[in-house]
Amino acid sequence: METVAQTPKYNLNEEQERKLILREYRSLLRSLKTKLKPGDKELLRVAFEMAAEAHKTMRRKSGEPYILHPLAVAKICVEEIGLGVRSTICALLHDTVEDTDISLEDIAREFGQEIARIVDGLTKISNVIDTNASQQAENFKKILLTLTDDPRVILIKLADRLHNMRTLESMKREKQLKIASETVYVYAPLAHRMGLYNIKTEMEDLAMKYMEPETYRDIAQKLAETKRERSKYINEFIRPIKEKLERWNFKFEVFGRPKSIHGISTKMKKKGVDFEEVYDLFAIRVILDSPADREKEDCWKVYSMITDEYTPSPERLRDWLSNPKSNGYEALHTTVMGPQGKWVEVQIRTKRMNEIAEKGLAAHWKYKEGTSDESRFDKWFQQIREVIGNNEADSIDFLQEFKTSFLAEEIYVYTPKGDVKMLPVDSTALDFAFSIHSAIGVKTIGAKVNHKLVPISHKLRSGDQIEIITSNKQKPSEDWLGFVVTAKARGRIKDALKEEKRKIADEGKYTVQRKLEGMGAALNQHNIEEIVQHYKLPSHLDLFYQVAIKNIDLKEIKDFKVVGENIEPPRPVKTVQEFKQEFNPAHGHNKKNDTELIIFGESSDKIVYNLANCCKPIPGDDVFGFVTTGKGLTIHRTSCPNATKLLSNYGHRVVKTKWAKNKEISFLTGLKIVGLDDVGVIHKITNLISGELRINISAFSLEAKEGLFEGNIKVFVHDREELETLVARLKELSGIESVERFDNEDIPA
Ligand code: MN
Repeated sequence: METVAQTPKYNLNEEQERKLILREYRSLLRSLKTKLKPGDKELLRVAFEMAAEAHKTMRRKSGEPYILHPLAVAKICVEEIGLGVRSTICALLHDTVEDTDISLEDIAREFGQEIARIVDGLTKISNVIDTNASQQAENFKKILLTLTDDPRVILIKLADRLHNMRTLESMKREKQLKIASETVYVYAPLAHRMGLYNIKTEMEDLAMKYMEPETYRDIAQKLAETKRERSKYINEFIRPIKEKLERWNFKFEVFGRPKSIHGISTKMKKKGVDFEEVYDLFAIRVILDSPADREKEDCWKVYSMITDEYTPSPERLRDWLSNPKSNGYEALHTTVMGPQGKWVEVQIRTKRMNEIAEKGLAAHWKYKEGTSDESRFDKWFQQIREVIGNNEADSIDFLQEFKTSFLAEEIYVYTPKGDVKMLPVDSTALDFAFSIHSAIGVKTIGAKVNHKLVPISHKLRSGDQIEIITSNKQKPSEDWLGFVVTAKARGRIKDALKEEKRKIADEGKYTVQRKLEGMGAALNQHNIEEIVQHYKLPSHLDLFYQVAIKNIDLKEIKDFKVVGENIEPPRPVKTVQEFKQEFNPAHGHNKKNDTELIIFGESSDKIVYNLANCCKPIPGDDVFGFVTTGKGLTIHRTSCPNATKLLSNYGHRVVKTKWAKNKEISFLTGLKIVGLDDVGVIHKITNLISGELRINISAFSLEAKEGLFEGNIKVFVHDREELETLVARLKELSGIESVERFDNEDIPA
């Protein structure tokens, strides 16, 4: 664990403090120097004095005068994001409206509406992550609205967050964790999307330092230990390239750059390898000083020189010169075989591209001036506005969808005419169809990808050319929701399904009415409610729908009056809202912790929850619920490998949970069977499972070795009881040695 914070005790006297503040202010002015127009200096002075006066009595947790924070944020805006005078004024004032007596009117009077509006935006989004998941989603929506209003708001907000992360040390541990997780959840992806690579990387590294201190220190130490060796290698690699570039009179810089600690850690986890086995601990970067009209040509020339020296890997060429990323990133990346048989990534870009890579949006605008290139950002903002405008649905869903649709990496695909479309990674043919037009999306029956026929769920890859095949008879179905990742497609499919369900339900309503009237009862709220309760359905609509599709035949409703008395009382299922009232995570764990949240076998309309991927619970398992930021409730098994960590560190976020009986929905789980390899063993197993026990098998793989076999079987079971019966029966089969449940592996859907 962390030792006591190492920040030096803050002990300056008043005079020294005044000097420090002035020094910081002057340094800010210096960094703005080239951007100052007549009158700007005076305005900045007014803003600075206004903020300094307003925060006069306030101190940061470290003991420093508060004004040093807005000064630092302003400096990040200028030096690291490339913003100008107006943004600097906003950054200086960003905390005044929220924390001091200064009002928006004061700011508008002094600096005008534009600046007041930005400061207002900054004030509104002070809290993204809330213990209340739907509140959090609302806040995020708010951020996005302000963002599309004026992107400077989000850029200044990112600077604010970066400075808070840089000075996180003096905060309390819980606060550190909260701020750090919020940063990786929302701000780092936003920074990435804005093209601010350095800021994104620094945020992730800093967050990791607090969230996984041991891994962080471990990697940092190993990087330091191997530094000398790495520098030697980099120099050896660079030498011949340098000579060539000089011979050709290029103006350039070339250097090796270590990958971020967070990046290395992610790679180690994803590939399951040790630090020593991560081959790309660094990348070589070539930055060319090329005139605008020769940029592309020069980059390719350099590519050619490098690959004359070192053999490139054909799969690892990334041409973001011809197709910049939607966050504006342009460069040429290649991976070549360097000395000692090591793969080395080389990034080639010009000075202009480098500035865009580092300063993102702001730099992009600077260069965009005077060109006719339609801004990718404008397009992105337009899409966001469209989605927010159309989205009245659950805001937690929205947040999730937003992250997959707008913050993910993207791919480029082509229409049959060769128009390029940008989609988030993992998009399918169906996403593509909806991106063209909703009217096409709902009628899609398949697609031709690069002239080959594929199903609508086919995942697209960059460079694919797609032709959509439609039919007037086609209609969206429930499973389509599993085939799409874009918010637009999901939204339109949901709308279509709801519409369809309503239409069908109308017929069912008529059937129910006749049934009731046949018994001398009326179709009124009370009577419908009774029937809904009897069949344990979530809503009227569901009742009518189930009746219409003949899942319910109403035969049980023989004598309506009797039924009304005989049915069991409704279960004490709590809505999330009720649950929150009783159980307030903000007030520690002393409150009604023994409240049990009852989970249906499937997400009902009342409680939003997920089953944890790490332990794949099924009904009947001992479980607990864990309130996850952004995801609502996640259900883990008490035997989950993560359980201890969650229970011990976040006791206040744990909810007791148990299963309601439900025989309609089944859950996928895995069994590992070991036994003697014998003729007919597969037949015996499958016969028992699907023949006798009537359990659905989703996948079955078998490997035989030296007279033994090991089989992995994935089955759909309703609950633990059924699973236990299955395991017991399997063990009884002759030749079976062991049967074990496994869940530590991704079960493909
Ligand atoms: Mn601040």
